[in-house]
Amino acid sequence: MSKYLSRADWGAVPAVKSLPVSKRLRGVCLHYMGFHVNADDPARLARSIQRNHMAKPKEWWDLAYNELIAQDGTVLEGRGLMHRCGANGSTAHNRQYIAIGLMIGDDQEPSQEMIEAVQERIQLVRFFQSQATRIVGHSDLKPTSCPGKYVKALIRAGAFEPTGASPPAIPSIEERLAALEKRTIDLEGKVCKCPPSSKSSEP
Ligand SMILES: [Zn+2]
Repeated sequence: MSKYLSRADWGAVPAVKSLPVSKRLRGVCLHYMGFHVNADDPARLARSIQRNHMAKPKEWWDLAYNELIAQDGTVLEGRGLMHRCGANGSTAHNRQYIAIGLMIGDDQEPSQEMIEAVQERIQLVRFFQSQATRIVGHSDLKPTSCPGKYVKALIRAGAFEPTGASPPAIPSIEERLAALEKRTIDLEGKVCKCPPSSKSSEP
């Protein structure tokens, strides 16, 4: 699993407003930053992107992407996967596609870690919305240089298609119940200092 930075982790300011993500997503749209990115501090870059997107002249509700991905494979929460993005260039496309912003410029090739993190996030989107199978670049939706020549070529080659080699760490219901039961038992053990009573003797 990739390293994940939540909004709190990278120091986001709250969104002005948000809308829920569509239940009928078509897929995921990939973006790039359009400028050369120094990989050393993705959290700082996320804060700067958020400032830029929310300030004049844009004045968007929040930073535009659902998620950002850094060259080392770190995933940074943007609007999050539960909210509609604002990055795809039109309301219809914002409704239809999750927007993932790759922290690279036109001169930078995505690393293997970045590609694998994208695969992982796409797999996660499909886990909740199995019909959301499309993987497109911003330029497939409107005329733009985004997401850059390298990402465009990788999309065409199918490189972001989840391989299934590393399934997302989503436990089954059974595993979640077992973990919850264990936690409850642990908690009971902590709260209750009296010797364990035989529960079966209760009516
Ligand atoms: Zn874009």
